[in-house]
Amino acid sequence: MPEPTPARAPQIIVRGARTHNLKNIDLTLPQRQLIVVTGVSGSGKSSLAFDTIYAEGQRRYVESLSAYARQFLDRMEKPDVDEIDGICPAIAIRQKNSLRNPRSTVGTQTEIHDYLRLLYARAGRTICRGCGNEVLRDSAELAARELAALPAGTRLLLGFRMPVVAGSEAEGAAAGGENGENGENAPAASGEDAGSPVAALLDAVRRKGFRRLVVGGRAVSIDDADADALAGETELRIVVDRVKVSADALSRLTDSIETAYREGGGAAFAIEADGGRTHSFSERFECGPCGIRYELPQPPLFSFNNPQGACSVCHGFGNVIELDMGLVVPDPSKSIRQNAIEPWSKPHYRSRLADLKRVARGSGIPLDAPWSELTDEQRRFVVEGDGAAYPGIRGFFRWLESKKYKVHVRVFLSRYRGYLVCPGCNGARLRPEARCVQVGGRTIDAVCALTVARARRFFDALALTDKEAAIAERIVREIRRRLAFLSDVGLDYLTLDRLSSTLSGGEAQRINLATSLGSGLVGTLYVLDEPSIGLHPRDNDRLLRILRQLRDQGNTVLVVEHDPEMIRSGDYLVDLGLGAGTRGGKVVYAGPADGIGAEQTSLTAKYLRGDLEIAVPESRRKRLPQSRAIRLLGAAEHNLKAIDVEIPLNLLTCVTGVSGSGKSTLVHDVLYAAIKRAKGGWDKRVGTHDTIDGLGLVSDVVLVDQAPIGRTPRSNPVTYLKAFDPIRELFASTRDARSRALTASHFSFNVPGGRCDACEGEGELRVEMQFLADVFVPCEHCDGKRFKPEVLEVRYRDCNVVDVLDMTVREALSFFNASPKIGRRLQVLDEIGLGYLRLGQPATTLSGGEAQRIKIAAHLMSRRGDRTLYILDEPTTGLHVDDISKLLAAFRKLLQSGHTLLVIEHNLDVIKTADWVIDLGPEGGEAGGQVVAAGPPELVAAHDGSHTGRYLRRALANGRQRAYAEP
Ligand code: ADP
Ligand code: ADP
Ligand code: ZN
Ligand code: ZN
Repeated sequence: MPEPTPARAPQIIVRGARTHNLKNIDLTLPQRQLIVVTGVSGSGKSSLAFDTIYAEGQRRYVESLSAYARQFLDRMEKPDVDEIDGICPAIAIRQKNSLRNPRSTVGTQTEIHDYLRLLYARAGRTICRGCGNEVLRDSAELAARELAALPAGTRLLLGFRMPVVAGSEAEGAAAGGENGENGENAPAASGEDAGSPVAALLDAVRRKGFRRLVVGGRAVSIDDADADALAGETELRIVVDRVKVSADALSRLTDSIETAYREGGGAAFAIEADGGRTHSFSERFECGPCGIRYELPQPPLFSFNNPQGACSVCHGFGNVIELDMGLVVPDPSKSIRQNAIEPWSKPHYRSRLADLKRVARGSGIPLDAPWSELTDEQRRFVVEGDGAAYPGIRGFFRWLESKKYKVHVRVFLSRYRGYLVCPGCNGARLRPEARCVQVGGRTIDAVCALTVARARRFFDALALTDKEAAIAERIVREIRRRLAFLSDVGLDYLTLDRLSSTLSGGEAQRINLATSLGSGLVGTLYVLDEPSIGLHPRDNDRLLRILRQLRDQGNTVLVVEHDPEMIRSGDYLVDLGLGAGTRGGKVVYAGPADGIGAEQTSLTAKYLRGDLEIAVPESRRKRLPQSRAIRLLGAAEHNLKAIDVEIPLNLLTCVTGVSGSGKSTLVHDVLYAAIKRAKGGWDKRVGTHDTIDGLGLVSDVVLVDQAPIGRTPRSNPVTYLKAFDPIRELFASTRDARSRALTASHFSFNVPGGRCDACEGEGELRVEMQFLADVFVPCEHCDGKRFKPEVLEVRYRDCNVVDVLDMTVREALSFFNASPKIGRRLQVLDEIGLGYLRLGQPATTLSGGEAQRIKIAAHLMSRRGDRTLYILDEPTTGLHVDDISKLLAAFRKLLQSGHTLLVIEHNLDVIKTADWVIDLGPEGGEAGGQVVAAGPPELVAAHDGSHTGRYLRRALANGRQRAYAEP
């Protein structure tokens, strides 16, 4: 056979890309490879990967769709690029957790639930809720075969049952016999002359040609039967045939069972005549002995998204909105007299508290003991009332319910209602019928409650009968495959029924990754942003394996990454830079990943080589004496194992641990919520814990997250930092402005006056798309300039307000060197590495990392003297090592001002510079939730059982204590 000529490796060719800050760049990327795009924050990675390559892939995809979809194509913004070639349909897997369906779960999202539904419909065993036996549906043939397998010579009485019902049974039996219908459907005609119901029934049966019935386990002739003796019976057992089991009895057995089915409405029995067992058969799907009918399992029965399967109480949500005592008594350390019962602290309802106080003494309810110390009995009294003079908290809310037509009552009510587990299905979300069906001894909701790790064990051990295997093997294989993918992306600890809406961005992204692998698409371009976010270094290998698997399926995988390990491991590397914003947007290096080592200018290369590094600090901030710490005791939310932690004051503390170990639960759900509530800014649930003290040591707690600094294009870095106010005043003070009678407010795009009326100062208009994301087009009226012409005529040092908004922070610093008021505010932005941002860049286009650092800048500017606890969750998201050193500089500034920092982080450069580390684990999920080690990084590094410690040891050893130099 001739060797196939090697086809030229397919490529993606990009020519003249100018999106955002990209400097007209050309690139040739290999297809079906793992391509890593890196560079400092703001260098243009997303502009290239998402806004150019992915955007074009998506356009091509839409083009391939229907004419209906194509009509929107012209209106989708075209990436600013001369030419892109070799592009394939593209799928973006982003961090944003954008799923909105509140019923969506890990199982439904990964399609595992769809396969489970099929599996349960095909191979599920229905277990009778009455007797716990399996419900079977037997064809006459199957039943006959079962009987034929009894020892030869066994004598059988085959027959059917007839219910004795006063009045209509005789006619019913006759009609049933003639029409071959169920006796129950027969018309109710009463036979007044037929004597007793039993006698009438016997008569009807005899007329149909049956001769015997079973009495006391023996066949008795109907003619000899004593109707009076049978008067108390509720049913008669009519014999169709008497058979002795032998090799050639099968066809006779089959015939007789068929007859019995026909006469008995689909059910038959066989009694072993010598005092043996009774066999029940049913053609219907029901439990014979219990007389309960069941539904034949169909896939929709197992879907909580479908009315056929959803629990009718909660409509498939698994919970109902009800009075939540956690909200009614938000702080159980308060006593009743201290207003533990929150709704009764409101002046309007204070009389209710008075009612309680009146009955309290007589009922032995202590008014001055903390709510948490009341006995269950006492609490029940307060909640449920005494049924007379005091209606209880519940009675109060029932009364409010009746006043719901008033808006303020509705609002008031909603504050105390929360989601409680549905009493109908206990959270299983499915109808009782669905919960009778088992595979491998478990119902579908029980399987969904398993973690990925446990579900894998369950399906690995699942033994199917040959018959079941024939119909379900492929399904089980698909389920196993998908579970393995979830496990590979490090999500072993998630349960299949975990709501997608409660997942972190990184978790959601990795689930999408697992789903993509499961879907087995080929020839697709996958674009991912920082898939390593939220992953402990321990799990990086597994992530890499997944990305390579996706590639090996025949796809091109393009990831934006900062993690050094990921950068080294790609097939092909694109390094953008050198700087950010206008100083970036160029290709510094493009080629095989290992070739970057020799690059002289690349910052990435310098860090990879170790020329530059984030140094381990010479000395750490010392922990102040024991007393100076916030102390949390008994934190037990989610998987936390009643742990105690201390946050030392005025230090940088890192919370570490593998994904799922409990970091977010500890920091967000417990610490943040508890402190916030103590400071009076929280009325939502606080994660379970015993006590927290030392709160007087901080004036406030602030979560500096990556949420946008504003929702409209009208907010931007300078408006957020209030640096635009002095700029507007400056413009208003010019001669140009005064001669036109323009005031400072005319230079605002937030109030009418000077701004463009058509776009209301946004500079763009939103076009709603039917099924695609909304599209923004520049405002035609002002040409995207946001202001009216007369405002634009006003100049300060030759620039109008739009020119100023277009400047980078650095440019503006020198432009406004005569105005210290403005300079001071912009200076902070530059100091934490945001000098490249444009003053007016819309908040909607800032990355999460940029938004977070702008918030830090705002805090750095705020008044001195206060002592705040700042909480940050993976602040290194989107940051190159070079940016991280700037972030650390910002941290130091906050510490110098007396604040305290608590940071959730996986990045070893941050962890090694921390003063204090709280390492959670050891594993994720149930196997986590404990404090593995707490202390300075060196101490955690020396800890054997800590995954973090293992990596930290290396990071600390590598540090050559060289001061970090700004390039
Ligand atoms: P990276 O992904 O490397 O952090 P980006 O591609 O997000 O960088 O940004 C590159 C530059 O383009 C930055 O200066 C950024 O502020 C700017 N930029 C990003 N998105 C937009 C946008 N939608 N409009 C205008 N400028 C943008
Ligand atoms: P980390 O932040 O360390 O990744 P988390 O605090 O998010 O860990 O999770 C700790 C454990 O609590 C995990 O088993 C996780 O599945 C569980 N968990 C977290 N949030 C929820 C939630 N909203 N509902 C149920 N379980 C949750
Ligand atoms: Zn329910
Ligand atoms: Zn306009």
